Amino acid sequence: MNDCIFCKIIQGEMPSYTVYEDDDLKVFMNINPSTNGHLLLIPKKHLTTLLDVDKEWMGHALEVIQTKLYPLLKEKLHCDGLTLSQNNFYGQEVKHFHIHLTPRYEHDLVDYQYNEEMLNEVETVFHTLVE
Ligand code: AMP
Ligand code: ZN
Repeated sequence: MNDCIFCKIIQGEMPSYTVYEDDDLKVFMNINPSTNGHLLLIPKKHLTTLLDVDKEWMGHALEVIQTKLYPLLKEKLHCDGLTLSQNNFYGQEVKHFHIHLTPRYEHDLVDYQYNEEMLNEVETVFHTLVE
């Protein structure tokens, strides 16, 4: 995928400020952060969305977040919390799977809008998934 900017970052063809890296993933600063310390965690392999990653990789990513990244953000930036987010297709600007780690601070400007007009009856949407 030589037109993928995150593959270029992995290959060292584009600069990034790397915070953590191992054989399977890389974590670097978001060039356009939502809050101070906003990180992106990506697989070294080019995968597009959540439908492409396997649970071993996700488990490893979770462990890195729990044991290294969240503690690092708390210690160094004194964030009050951490929001994980991840866009698939819609809202996904870069088509290389990535997890946003957005440190949260009291009075930050991160805002998830609620739109009542978008809601359906809960039963209509979910009853088929309940076993
Ligand atoms: P998404 O909208 O979920 O695809 O998010 C893509 C993110 O990648 C955005 O938050 C961008 O600020 C970030 N981004 C794009 N190009 C770069 C880059 N070269 N280095 C670091 N972050 C980037
Ligand atoms: Zn890629």
